[in-house]
Amino acid sequence: MSQYWSPIVSKLRPYVAGEQPRIANMVKLNTNESPYGPSPKALEAIREAVDDRLRLYPDPTAAELRETIAARFGLAAEEVFVGNGSDEVLAHAFQALLKHERPLLYPDVTYAFYSTYSLLYDVEAIEVAVDDGFRIRLQDYNRPCGAIIIPNPNAPTGIGLPLAGIKVLLDAHPDAVVVIDEAYIDFGGESTAGLVSTYPNLLVIQTLSKSRSLAGLRIGFALGQRPLIEALERVKDSFNSYPLDRLAQLAATAAIKDEAWSETCRRNIIASRESLVSELEVLGFEVLPSQANFVFARHQSRSGAALQAALRERGILVRHFAKPRISDFLRISIGTDEECARLVSALKEMLTA
Ligand code: PMP
Repeated sequence: MSQYWSPIVSKLRPYVAGEQPRIANMVKLNTNESPYGPSPKALEAIREAVDDRLRLYPDPTAAELRETIAARFGLAAEEVFVGNGSDEVLAHAFQALLKHERPLLYPDVTYAFYSTYSLLYDVEAIEVAVDDGFRIRLQDYNRPCGAIIIPNPNAPTGIGLPLAGIKVLLDAHPDAVVVIDEAYIDFGGESTAGLVSTYPNLLVIQTLSKSRSLAGLRIGFALGQRPLIEALERVKDSFNSYPLDRLAQLAATAAIKDEAWSETCRRNIIASRESLVSELEVLGFEVLPSQANFVFARHQSRSGAALQAALRERGILVRHFAKPRISDFLRISIGTDEECARLVSALKEMLTA
């Protein structure tokens, strides 16, 4: 505490990000990055742009990138917003679209940033409990609200929602903005991107950090009809009118165009996930059904915290959340087959010791 702080600062319990190790050769399965590198075309775009032009400010409208994303989803560039990672897009959405007289609804259990941003931006929120199987029950969102935000698939559970259920939700709340956070949608879920033209109250948020392997460049985007995108632009322009740096804009444009590359990575990750799930089950884990690039699993007899610590000693990082309801679980990002094999053999050793 300090006398110099604004009052909100003492109330903030900021999100604590997963460890980014400084030690080489750790098996890093803790922050849901892709185990595969970005598209070679994205890397080439960056290399070609590292020159004297870096003295110039980037395009404040990120026109080429927005046109590329728009073309990919059959939308207009004015229906696309870009930001520094979907975390920043989410922050702008909280300020521009989610604060109303009536409360914001989001699931309990979900992505920890929603409660952080609610506090930071003074948004009154109600957390809607997931069921005993950690599933979101969309019928529980049939209550008065100003806005709704739901990740599909949910994080950290990995459980996806059917498109039909989201349509019912959108129809039931024509006066409320519904944000669907699709950070992990490319790993088997059903995207709502195709519904943007039909629903003026829908904002879809995606990222290039996962299926497009560009977490290090921080690129996220939102799709929505023009009034929603304009609201995000107004907040952005009042905050930092340059959405993305020059290199990120170019690399993202190339990565979105290289559909074949991300498709191959995506398929490999889904296949590795399915084998990892079977192996974890054999070792006595309950694994929630995942449509993401991670699995959420708990062991029948060992605590999540103990397993995480023991794995760390063996050079393997996984994520553990010390939160009620989910503290038994480990969230394990899908690595290469070799990384998954190292994890499984370490677990076997620990569990049979
Ligand atoms: N939404 C969800 C549900 C996430 O898990 C993450 C990743 N931590 C993000 C958004 C943010 O991803 P990024 O800022 O890298 O785009």
